[in-house]
Amino acid sequence: MHRLLSILICFLVASALLPFSAVAARKKKPAFAEQTSAAIRPPAVLNDMKHWSNPDYTRISLELDRDVTWEAHELGNGAPGKPGRVYIDLKRTHMGKQVKDITIGDGLLKGARVGQYKAEVVRVVLDTENIRDYKIFPLSNPARLVIDVRGEQPTQISRLAPVITAMSEPITMPKKEERSAAEKKAKSAPKTTISKIRRIVVDPGHGGHDPGAVGQSGIQEKDVVLAIGLRLQEMFKDELGLDVVMTRSTDVFIPLEERTAIANKVGADLFLSVHANAAPNRAATGIETYYLNLAKTDKVAQLAAKENGTSLEKVSVLQAILFDLMANYKLNDSAHLADEVQRFLHNKIRVRYSDVKNLGVKQGPFYVLVGASMPSILVETAFLSNSTEEARLKDSTYQEMVAEGIFEGVRSYISSLK
Ligand SMILES: [Zn+2]
Repeated sequence: MHRLLSILICFLVASALLPFSAVAARKKKPAFAEQTSAAIRPPAVLNDMKHWSNPDYTRISLELDRDVTWEAHELGNGAPGKPGRVYIDLKRTHMGKQVKDITIGDGLLKGARVGQYKAEVVRVVLDTENIRDYKIFPLSNPARLVIDVRGEQPTQISRLAPVITAMSEPITMPKKEERSAAEKKAKSAPKTTISKIRRIVVDPGHGGHDPGAVGQSGIQEKDVVLAIGLRLQEMFKDELGLDVVMTRSTDVFIPLEERTAIANKVGADLFLSVHANAAPNRAATGIETYYLNLAKTDKVAQLAAKENGTSLEKVSVLQAILFDLMANYKLNDSAHLADEVQRFLHNKIRVRYSDVKNLGVKQGPFYVLVGASMPSILVETAFLSNSTEEARLKDSTYQEMVAEGIFEGVRSYISSLK
């Protein structure tokens, strides 16, 4: 009942905020159209088309050089056992030289074709095999449209697909004093046998051209969270014997839609996205942990816009279709994981900084968590926008404590599953 009400409210809010219904739902013709004042600008260019197959859905990403308006239609509807087509017309767009048709053949889509349909319209055609519905939404920097296609039943993708090689680059140790061998030994003493959780994805936010939040002294979120992520990788491996997959272990840009796709592809049992917070109010401080859901406050919506690298308007587009996208999201498990991590992380930091604020567990429309089929959370380790916490974040001792706190939270979560 409560959920139904929220869906209703969400749609009301969304339709109040948006010029058109943002929902590219089945049987509804046109999708979201963006207001641009750029009639004079040259047409956009479609630079790339990528895809990721998952057990329950297929994700297509169309990479552009700027935002475009689009329209989605269906032919022959692709209902179970009835192959059909979904086509998406990108207005005022030209084909880039690199874009090619792709063969998919994963049970949901046969493939995706692309062509210059009219002088200024690029048409993307998805040849569907057995789909239930699809959703389209925009992301920024680079501009792209992500199309998530869902099926009636899970397809036959092996959850044990080999770990993506690009993700297993050699690890560079974060600059910090090495713990003594004795300390290390003591810590790793009892290697527990973990049956339910064996592979974990650690996702340091941002990277490459995307610095994330930037502190007043110039400290960048992408560097801080990478250092924390690399420590986490070590701890999970050494102390719990877990298989750890990093979405990035160097300073590279990984699109948000690819991060959860990686987690699904390697059959991860947990997904942890590590971030540092920023707020317009420089006095804001504290630690908070999120799982995926609608934003309850404007503050959260603003933070989601920041972390999604998009505008508030695009966050409302996401909010409007979030429930459909969350079909396979492990809501309760994610909330439970968030509780444990938040509690242990706050307790760990409090030992040294007794004033640290516990902002608690919250819910928000963080795009990086969309599509994850395992418990998944996003941790905001402190505020880079606050000078005191910025100084902490750049200190390797604080980074170490954060990693330990998150680690202990995850360990507690794992123990609670037994
Ligand atoms: Zn971030």
